[in-house]
Amino acid sequence: MSPGAARAAKPAAKPAAKTATKTAPARATARRRAAPDPARAWSRKLARSRPGLVEDVLDRLVVFHGRPVWERRLDATSELVLTILSQNTADLNSERAFQALRAAHPSDAGPVEVHRVTGPDGVERAPHGWGGVGMDPGRPPDWMAVESAPLPELVETIRSGGLAEQKAPRIQAALRTIREERGDHRLDFLVDLPAREARDWLTRIPGIGPKTASVVLLFCFGTPLMPVDTHVERVSKRVGLIPADATLELAHEAWLHLMPEGRAYEAHVNLITHGRVVCDARRPKCGICPLADRCRFVDRRAP
Ligand code: SF4
Repeated sequence: MSPGAARAAKPAAKPAAKTATKTAPARATARRRAAPDPARAWSRKLARSRPGLVEDVLDRLVVFHGRPVWERRLDATSELVLTILSQNTADLNSERAFQALRAAHPSDAGPVEVHRVTGPDGVERAPHGWGGVGMDPGRPPDWMAVESAPLPELVETIRSGGLAEQKAPRIQAALRTIREERGDHRLDFLVDLPAREARDWLTRIPGIGPKTASVVLLFCFGTPLMPVDTHVERVSKRVGLIPADATLELAHEAWLHLMPEGRAYEAHVNLITHGRVVCDARRPKCGICPLADRCRFVDRRAP
């Protein structure tokens, strides 16, 4: 047989495998789909190994601390700026700084907002989960004036909030981003977005992380997100609701999967309260804690 005839006698080549014809973006998409989601994996594992834990913990906290009821206190832009002001400082300082903003850049727009809560006894208190005394009633500042204020002037205005040199440009950048994207400073459109999408929109603003975004969305719109602050993180890790070595990002993601429907506000406020008054960082009062028999800090094998 001549070489030419041998070539002709070769069996026809197998059709190329489907995967070999995938385009690069399709392969990337397939890889992304295949990548395990550690937050989802954790929530499934918890449901298998410690069934009913999240609901049980939240129920016990309600019995111990009460059931706080969600009520909007501030508009979302004010909440965002107040949360930036509260980063790495006491809430008392940030509310002073926010009130200084109102005084320096007053506005007639929008309704007067009432930050404090009036209890059943008629006494005014700070809002749930807030560590300050609550702000006086007032309208939001003139956000355009805040955005365009000379930076040194804004730094002086918010000086009482601490880290003013960092927070002033962060506030102006956030306000600028919102206005450039939306045409004004309002964030009310976020109420119509699914939780993750709304959070992602806010975290695309430079300087806004998942905690700040979750605070704004939970407190202003009741979006089912858990802002993981230092108290929420400590109690969640000690009990074993989230992995002991979880990053803040994973902690936020894990809570997104764990949260029972309709309980996000109550869960957030009660975990903060519990961290402040019972599960202290240095001296947790495990002897009086209603979670003790389910807490992995007390017993590594707690159910
Ligand atoms: S049992 Fe102790 S460590 Fe566990 S949540 Fe309660 S106070 Fe915190």
